[in-house]
Amino acid sequence: MSSLDRFSFVVAANCNAHNPSPFRDPPEGHRSHCHAYRTEEFAIPKLPRRLEGHVTIVTGASSGIGLSVASAFAAAGSAVVVNYRSHPAPALQLADQIRSNGGKCAAIQADVSNEEDVVRLFDTATDAFGRIDILVSNSGVQRDASITDMTLADWNTVIDINLTGQFLCCREAVRRFNSQPAHSRPSRSSGAIIAMSSVHEIIPWAGHINYASAKGGVRMLTRSLAQEVASQGIRVNAIAPGAIRTPINKDAWETPEALEKLLRLIPYGRIGEPEDVANAAIWLASDEADYVTGTTLFVDGGMALYPEFRDNG
Ligand code: NAD
Repeated sequence: MSSLDRFSFVVAANCNAHNPSPFRDPPEGHRSHCHAYRTEEFAIPKLPRRLEGHVTIVTGASSGIGLSVASAFAAAGSAVVVNYRSHPAPALQLADQIRSNGGKCAAIQADVSNEEDVVRLFDTATDAFGRIDILVSNSGVQRDASITDMTLADWNTVIDINLTGQFLCCREAVRRFNSQPAHSRPSRSSGAIIAMSSVHEIIPWAGHINYASAKGGVRMLTRSLAQEVASQGIRVNAIAPGAIRTPINKDAWETPEALEKLLRLIPYGRIGEPEDVANAAIWLASDEADYVTGTTLFVDGGMALYPEFRDNG
């Protein structure tokens, strides 16, 4: 079998494997489109557009991981809503860039810890693109302090954004997924949610109890919600990034000394880049992960593997 034949075979197998789930009909024209494929159409390698026809909301998308996820999802064919809270310039710039590359994008301001803002975010997104298929609930902050110095405001801010914000966005996403007509779905599921968690959903973190408590909460939110809505055809998963080079943890990588200390915690030997997380998110959101729900995908270079034990403990 030539490599080209092999590729056609994989494509045909993927098309045939697209059996109707108990929750949805196959997309209009999907089968005939598959059978219309010709081998030579696949001779030119193309980047896979696994999220063609989808609409995705990415919260906190004006920087770091969210920005990378939004731009990768657009490259994978999804229309993207770039949510930002207080910095319109990078969000509008990203939206312009996506549109100038032929994608669909809207930048929408909303504070994810504010109930009315979250409803407005989903309303405006639905007005713009007609539906919502994927939520990447990514917004997050840190307010670090030892327990004796941590103010109630430090605690509440982190819980409000990192945990309550996840609840508000997930609730709104489930409401929208359930109210959209089944025949118009671009994927096998009725909708997919990806909560941006952290390795600190399982690794305790002294000096950051607000953050670790919120991410521990995200772990159980993900699992409990996945269990609750699986019968509605909705998939809910989390990503646990390790140390990713973004503004949130600049102190941990911006000097060579800090980076060297950080790398001792990462068996794979490099800091993560936002694209590492974006690539995982695309897979988790796509039909390739259709049987995956209620889990956390660690994207951490092994940080959660008790690195202190790698030299025999
Ligand atoms: P970042 O600071 O670049 O991004 C956080 C984003 O959240 C920003 O765009 C910010 O504007 C947005 N945001 C903050 N409060 C908001 C609110 N109330 N409403 C809407 N948006 C709000 O940092 P990042 O590293 O890209 O973080 C993204 C997510 O990844 C966070 O949830 C963070 O906890 C998680 N994470 C990051 C790392 C890492 O190493 N960078 C590791 C583990 C988890």
